[in-house]
Amino acid sequence: MIDLDSPVAELLDSTHGKPKLLVVDDQPINIQVMYQAFAGDYQIFMATNGEQALHICRSNPPDLVLLDVVMPGMDGFEVCSRLKADETTSHIPIIFVTAHTDAAQETHGLSLGAVDFIPKPVNPDVVRARVKTHLTLKFQSDLLRKLVFLDGLSGVFNRRYFDQQISTEWARAARNNLPLSLILLDVDYFKLYNDHYGHQAGDDALRRIAVTLKSCLRRPADLVARYGGEEFACILPETSYDDALLLAQDLERKIREKEIPHADSTVAPVITISVGMATREPNTSGDVQSLIGLADCLLYEAKHSGRGRVCSAVMQNPPASDAAEPAPSGA
Ligand code: GH3
Ligand code: MG
Ligand code: MG
Repeated sequence: MIDLDSPVAELLDSTHGKPKLLVVDDQPINIQVMYQAFAGDYQIFMATNGEQALHICRSNPPDLVLLDVVMPGMDGFEVCSRLKADETTSHIPIIFVTAHTDAAQETHGLSLGAVDFIPKPVNPDVVRARVKTHLTLKFQSDLLRKLVFLDGLSGVFNRRYFDQQISTEWARAARNNLPLSLILLDVDYFKLYNDHYGHQAGDDALRRIAVTLKSCLRRPADLVARYGGEEFACILPETSYDDALLLAQDLERKIREKEIPHADSTVAPVITISVGMATREPNTSGDVQSLIGLADCLLYEAKHSGRGRVCSAVMQNPPASDAAEPAPSGA
């Protein structure tokens, strides 16, 4: 059964709502025909040249593109090649819609990565049916691509996604000189919990912990991932030390307040967590590994100073003598 608070449920939800279609044609009358065929069931975006089409696909990716071949300037084949060459748009299915339908053109269009080729003038029923088929396939493959990043047991993001996102967020924070906070947390005496209550109960506890952690995050960009066995991580983009510390303390308290009995813990009669929280404030040098390393050290400190607590710090720049690089010579 799918937990309704889990990312899996969100992913299933995200495939609902009106699919987004981009219609690209230099003749407004052709766009009008497509608009009439699809209005109501779809959100329709329009472009009358290749550059506009590329811009829309990058800024607000549609679920499918209906693409004219012959257009002044950049033709449909070129638009298709560029969309397929760009990792952020390569997954968008493209259907060519064209009056020039000889076998060589069709073969060429398909070889560039288009999923279908529809002759003009279009029959609205046929084009609707084909679009529906390709959208179904597209949503299925979107879902599969996203499932690759979810942890099967807890339903939150997995380590692979964490590794990817923390690097992306570090790069973004460094580029825009923004804060970035990272929380690492580990369940206290979880081996004893398994020994006492059984592995199945341990799995259930991990699921409850994951849901609780997720419910504490407030911003859409914040995320929880399962970092390892009974360790979780939260990435908090654009979050200052003070705000992240409040959140870390909130996580520690909320898990305690779940009151999941833990008879063998010496911290409390309920499950508790130890938390390490590190922040990269603006104007910090270093790299993403130093942020992760610091959060890990702080988690270790929380464990060794009694568990069931938060230890936190701001990343420090290396001393000036270490950081200094030889001045570039010349201009
Ligand atoms: P500490 O407070 O120092 O963290 O003690 P601990 O017992 O939590 O730490 P330790 O690393 O010794 O043990 C971790 C335990 O977590 C052992 C392992 O069986 C359990 N664990 C890890 N992953 C899972 C899981 O997916 N399900 C269950 N049920 N248990 C897990
Ligand atoms: Mg533990
Ligand atoms: Mg552990």
